[in-house]
Amino acid sequence: MKDTFKHQGMRQQLVETLINKGIKDKSVLKAIGKIPRHLFMDSGFIDYAYQDKAFPIAADQTISQPYTVAFQSELLQVQPGDTVLEIGTGSGYQTAVLLELGAKVYSIERQHELFKKTSKFLPKIGYRAKKFIFGDGYKGLPVEAPFQSIIVTAGAPYVPNPLLSQLAIGGRLVIPVGDDVQVMTLFIRKGPKDFEKHEFGDFRFVPMLEDKN
Ligand code: SAH
Repeated sequence: MKDTFKHQGMRQQLVETLINKGIKDKSVLKAIGKIPRHLFMDSGFIDYAYQDKAFPIAADQTISQPYTVAFQSELLQVQPGDTVLEIGTGSGYQTAVLLELGAKVYSIERQHELFKKTSKFLPKIGYRAKKFIFGDGYKGLPVEAPFQSIIVTAGAPYVPNPLLSQLAIGGRLVIPVGDDVQVMTLFIRKGPKDFEKHEFGDFRFVPMLEDKN
């Protein structure tokens, strides 16, 4: 499937929508203006790819709303070369945004179907993560820690301790916390045992589930 002028035009409109909703980070907006979101969705939904909405993907999961992706990416403040851990690969759209920002990305997914599909698909369109992991994001990825940033793209009932402890000093964890509704929460690691916490309003995500199956 191709990326046409029509798709590019719709993408620019989406970028305008995100600017109007308050997204300011130029590199995040540039990434969203560049990534062919329609390729990340099942064919039946392609007409909706550039609306600012979440949509169903495989395994009863969703591709996050572009505004949410932009909001979380802005909070991460990724610098080129940063090592970033993503929990919830899903369609790989957020992964592509992180890669456009110049991050070295490790991405964990607990649905085998999505892990398989997305780890094949992303390199095909030129997005190369360091590693896709089939596993449980509650544990993080101790072998590759510390991370400059960790992003959780599923609703977490609580903040998993391993994620906090795998942050580099100065590192940032962006995680939506809550059951039915989640509060977007940013933790900044100021020292080994010192974390600053900031909250940014309500969002809705599919749940972050424990164990693999
Ligand atoms: N960033 C993705 C969001 C997908 S939805 C996108 O925009 O496409 C959230 C994803 O988190 C789902 O794919 C779900 O299977 C995954 N997930 C839920 N709990 C998880 C866990 N404990 N570990 C890893 N992934 C998890």
